[in-house]
Amino acid sequence: MTLPQTPFYLIDKAALRANMEKVAWLREASGAKALLALKCFATWSVFDFMREFMDGTTSSSLYELRLGHEEFGKETHAYSVAWADHEIDEAVGYADKIIFNSLGQLDRFAGKASGIAAGLRLNPRFSTSGFDLADPARPFSRLGEWDVARLEQALDRISGVMIHYNCENGDFALFDRQLTRIETEFGDILKRLDWVSLGGGIHFTGEGYPLQKLADRLKQFQDRFGVQAFLEPGEASITKTTTLEVSVLDIIDNGKQVAIVDSSTEAHMLDLLIYRESAKLPRRGEHEYQIAGKTCLAGDIFGEARFEQPLQIGDRVSIDDAAGYTMVKKNWFNGVAMPSIAIREEDGSIRTVRSFPYEEYKGSLS
Ligand SMILES: *Cc1c(COP(=O)(O)O)cnc(C)c1O
Repeated sequence: MTLPQTPFYLIDKAALRANMEKVAWLREASGAKALLALKCFATWSVFDFMREFMDGTTSSSLYELRLGHEEFGKETHAYSVAWADHEIDEAVGYADKIIFNSLGQLDRFAGKASGIAAGLRLNPRFSTSGFDLADPARPFSRLGEWDVARLEQALDRISGVMIHYNCENGDFALFDRQLTRIETEFGDILKRLDWVSLGGGIHFTGEGYPLQKLADRLKQFQDRFGVQAFLEPGEASITKTTTLEVSVLDIIDNGKQVAIVDSSTEAHMLDLLIYRESAKLPRRGEHEYQIAGKTCLAGDIFGEARFEQPLQIGDRVSIDDAAGYTMVKKNWFNGVAMPSIAIREEDGSIRTVRSFPYEEYKGSLS
């Protein structure tokens, strides 16, 4: 078996199956449907595999919508913060449901979407995000309608709402309390709908999450309001399935042992910089190194790692959790070689599904 040249993202299908089996169990036990959120993960070469466990996809743009329609199939939800006039007919052609972000967009486009189900984004004005940048309930948020009078104006034209307010929420008690708040504040509206999407951000594939409680709570919610619930797991679908594999190019001692690798935070794991996090690196052994990228950015640092043996030039380092919001954000900053994409099959064999030669770099601009 020939491994690709580093850097490459490595998707582990056995780990993906473990997540997918939880998703499938939850659908079965709760009656809720599960759609993959493509803004988190759009590596379509594993869609054939994921399709058996999920109901379809949801999107945040015309291109994500088209990809979901073409490569995943099944049920396809179309959402966008704002559709353009030139996009709407094509979007309606791919979608089973279209979800508008504002009453203004619904007014503008509901006529064009009359052949498919329409919905509106409801913003409950609270969320579980502790990070302002990613908080849909931040002050003056543009994400969805919250005013009950405005929501009521939409009711003759929509059959459902989408409420996305969780963010990596692994706390079932918090989910339960917040859903109760939604039931209390918006119950009169929910009763008049056919479907409610509760969005993504519920970390139900995590270790020890009380899946049975979540299933029961979702069932109760659906029974109470007579709606079909949808979940839109992004991160939960692919968490802990993928690594970024890199090689050590140089080791510098500046009072600290710094290992420079053939990758970059900004180009290949951008969220580390945005959310000021450290990469998940090996941390066993006595030998400490700062793992740093090869771009000119002074702060291109993955984080601190420890190894059993001293690192040598050419050693491979494996960086965890490289699927969600990572592969979708890779870019050509500094012209650093773009990681190939490889899949570890369940029999252990590794298959390279995509590599990005110089022509791809050149072709990304003109
Ligand atoms: C980002 C997003 C998701 C996926 O969120 P995760 O935290 O990755 O599960 C789902 N629905 C909507 C509307 C989103 O914006």
